[in-house]
Amino acid sequence: MAGSTMHAMVFEGAKARLQLRQLARPVPGPGQVRLQVRACAVCRTDLHVIDRELPNAKRALIPGHEIVGVVDRLGDGVTRFEPGDRVGVPWLGWTCGQCRYCRRGQENLCPAAKFTGYTLDGGYAEYAIADERFCFPIDTGYDDAAAAPLLCAGLIGYRAYRLAGEKVACLGLYGFGAAAHILTQLAIHEGKRVFAFSRPGDRAAQQFALQLGAVWAGDSDATPPQALDAALIFAPAGELVPKALAHTVPGGSVVCGGIHMSDIPAFPYSLLWGERIVRSVANLTRADGTAFLALAPQVPVRTQVQLFPLAQANEALDCLRAGRLQGAAVLTMA
Ligand SMILES: [Zn+2]
Ligand SMILES: [Zn+2]
Repeated sequence: MAGSTMHAMVFEGAKARLQLRQLARPVPGPGQVRLQVRACAVCRTDLHVIDRELPNAKRALIPGHEIVGVVDRLGDGVTRFEPGDRVGVPWLGWTCGQCRYCRRGQENLCPAAKFTGYTLDGGYAEYAIADERFCFPIDTGYDDAAAAPLLCAGLIGYRAYRLAGEKVACLGLYGFGAAAHILTQLAIHEGKRVFAFSRPGDRAAQQFALQLGAVWAGDSDATPPQALDAALIFAPAGELVPKALAHTVPGGSVVCGGIHMSDIPAFPYSLLWGERIVRSVANLTRADGTAFLALAPQVPVRTQVQLFPLAQANEALDCLRAGRLQGAAVLTMA
């Protein structure tokens, strides 16, 4: 039966560690493609799922929503892709197409949306299925592992970056992980000055930010040498919101890029006064994906990845939790 089974790392709910399982290969339904997964990046959202901070995870879930794979089987009616095409699968896996959000270009807010590696099985596996309408072709300039972090760290990071506004010259990035290392390159390419904030004392992350071209790097409770026009927060720590606001100019934005954050402490109204904006970013639209994946090779964005074999997904998640990664962890399939 070797030809019809696959290995997958499965979140079984009761256990905090993912379990290596042998499962039947999924069969693509109408409009779906099946991918032979080549690489799947590890995202902080995967930790929030495993820690049960997000309530709607599928039972016996295969996590992973930054998938790069090669189409190996087509469901009925597939027209966009052929066997052998290399595609990426992001977090947004399906939307209804009919609700008020879907109809006005906000499919990221569709209340019926399904999400890869959360309410749908994802890419911590040798095979995965995806709706062809939500897959993206992958630029040939990226190898499989290098492309994987573009699909969430890059894509949702890009949405956060764009929502910060057009007139940003000085950009603060709180939490210097996979998203920040990609956005630093994009922001510098667009002529912005990047100020990087890491966990207090994380000199390796600060050094990494400076290597990528940040003009300043420091602890998350430090005061940058210049006020920020906008700050993007990728660390799931609510106390960073008032800290970032305190360093942001009137009219500037603080954008929270994660799906989960600890409570935001009370803060004086004076930090918000002056038309400062605090907002979240939820998910992505396909238009975000198309725009970012066209832009990334022009910068060119170079991702830094640390590779782990599929069976070591737990170790990759441990490294992410402990802040022991530079760039992104990526699972690779044998
Ligand atoms: Zn993600
Ligand atoms: Zn909808």
